[in-house]
Amino acid sequence: MPAPRQQQDRLRVAVVGAGPSGVYAAQGLVREEETGPAVAVDVLDRLPCPYGLVRYGVAPDHEKIKSLQGTLRTVLEHPRIRFLGNVEVGPDGMPPAALLRAYHAVVYCVGAATDRRLGIPGEDLRGSHSATDFVSWYSAHPDARDDGFALGARSAVVIGVGNVAVDVARVLARGADELRPTDMPQAALESLERSAVSTVTMVGRRGPSQAKFTTKELRELGTLPGAETRVREDELSLDPGYRDPEGLPSAVRRNVAVLRDWAAAEPSGRPGTIGLRFYLRPVEILDDGAGAVRGVRFERTAPDGAGGVTGTGAYEEIEAQLVLRSVGYHGVPLDGLPFDARSGTVPHTAGRVLRDGVPSPGEYVAGWIKRGPTGVIGTNRPCAKETVGSLLEDAEALLAARGPLADDPLDVLRAAGRRPVEWGGWLGIEAAEADLGRRLERATVKIPDWDGLLAAAGLPG
Ligand code: NAP
Repeated sequence: MPAPRQQQDRLRVAVVGAGPSGVYAAQGLVREEETGPAVAVDVLDRLPCPYGLVRYGVAPDHEKIKSLQGTLRTVLEHPRIRFLGNVEVGPDGMPPAALLRAYHAVVYCVGAATDRRLGIPGEDLRGSHSATDFVSWYSAHPDARDDGFALGARSAVVIGVGNVAVDVARVLARGADELRPTDMPQAALESLERSAVSTVTMVGRRGPSQAKFTTKELRELGTLPGAETRVREDELSLDPGYRDPEGLPSAVRRNVAVLRDWAAAEPSGRPGTIGLRFYLRPVEILDDGAGAVRGVRFERTAPDGAGGVTGTGAYEEIEAQLVLRSVGYHGVPLDGLPFDARSGTVPHTAGRVLRDGVPSPGEYVAGWIKRGPTGVIGTNRPCAKETVGSLLEDAEALLAARGPLADDPLDVLRAAGRRPVEWGGWLGIEAAEADLGRRLERATVKIPDWDGLLAAAGLPG
C-alpha cells in the first residue's frame, strides 16, 4: 500500500477566476487525483463572490441557467479546493510572477472582461451604452455605474443579434411583475419599473441566417406577456450561399422558421414591441443637439454570397433615446502575461501559455481568455479539460523543479497585503442577500456595492 501523501507533497495550483471555466478547471484537477498527483487548488477571484458570469452575466430571469451555481458550489466545497475572493491578480494586486512563486502552477481563467467598440461617431453620447455595462448594472456587479439607463427613454435600439442582445432586449421589455421575483438589485428593479421603454429594436448587420442567437433564446422573446415581436418579411432573405434550405445548418433553419412565423403573425395587441431588423449596418449614433442620443443611422446592406454583406448606399434612421451596443466581448491584457491584441486571447498550445512561442512552465489558460468569447457555459468543460490534461502531464516536472512549497499560499497572499474572502465569507454574503430579500419582501436580492459585499463577508473597510 502506498504511503499516505503529505500535505507538502501536493502540487499547489492557483486558478485565477471563479467563473465556470475556473471552476471546471479546479474540478478537473482534483478529480484526477486517484491516478495522478495529489493536487490542492486555490480558486482566486478579484470579486468577493464566486461564479463569474453565471452570477454577473446570466440574466436574472434565467433562473434555470442560474441554478448552475449549485453545481459550481459543490465543486468549490471540495475539501482540496479553496475559494479565495477579493484577490486581484495584476499590477494592483498579485503580479503573475509573484503568484507563480507561491504556487507550482497557475491557470488563468479570467474571461473576456470588456466590450468591443463599434468605431462609429456618437458612441459616447449620453444614452449610448455597451450592453455589457447594462448587464453588469442589472446583475449587481460592484463595479457597475448606475447611469439611469432606461430612464426617460421610450425607444431602445440594440445593435447586434447575439444572445446578449436577446437578454438585454428581453429585460427591457419585461414588466416589473416579472422582474420582481428575480435577484435583481433593488435600484435596478425600481429604475426598470419606472421605465417607459415600449419599443425595443434589435438590429443585425447581416441576415437572419447569420444571426448569432440560439433558437431557445429567440423563441422566448415571443412569450413575453407585455410585448409582441415584429419582423419584416422583406428582411428575411437568406444569403445566396444558403439558397438551398437543405444546406442550412439545423440551428439556422430553426431560427429562420421562428422569424418567418413572427413575420406572418397577426398583431396580438400587446402594448410593447420587440422588433428584429436585418441587413442594417450602424454608421452613426445620432445626437439630439444636447449631447444625448436621438437615434441610430444605418446603411442598408446586401448579402455578398460569401456570408458577408456589402453596403448599398441606402440609409435609414431608427429613433431611440437608449442605444445598447451588443457586439461581443473582448479579452483584456493581464500585465505580466503575453497577449494577442487582435483575438483578445493569451497565446497557448493546448492550454499551456506560450511566451515567445515556447510553453512557459507552470502557466496555463482556460475559458474565454484561451479561445475567445464564444460558446455557451458548457463549452468551458472540454476547454478546461484540455488545459487540465496539459497541466497534469507537466505535474511531475513542476514538482521536481520546485519541490514541496514551504508556505501556505494563503499566508503568502496575506503577507502581500491581500485580504482574501474565504468560503465562510461568501456564505456570509449569501446570508446577507437572503436577509435583504426578506426585508424587501422579495426573494434573495443581490448586494450591488463593494462596501456592502465586504461587510457581509466579515471584512469591513
Ligand atoms: P456574439 O454572439 O458574438 O454576437 C455579437 C453580435 O454583434 C453579432 O450579431 C455580430 O454580428 C454583431 N456585431 C459585431 N460587430 C459588429 C459591428 N461592428 N456592427 C454591427 N454588429 C456587430 O456575442 P454576445 O451576444 O456578446 O455573446 C457572447 C457569448 O455569450 C456567445 O457565445 C453567446 O452565445 C454567449 N451567451 C449565451 C447566453 C445563453 O446561452 N442564454 C446568453 C448570453 C451570452 P456579425 O455576426 O455580423 O459579426
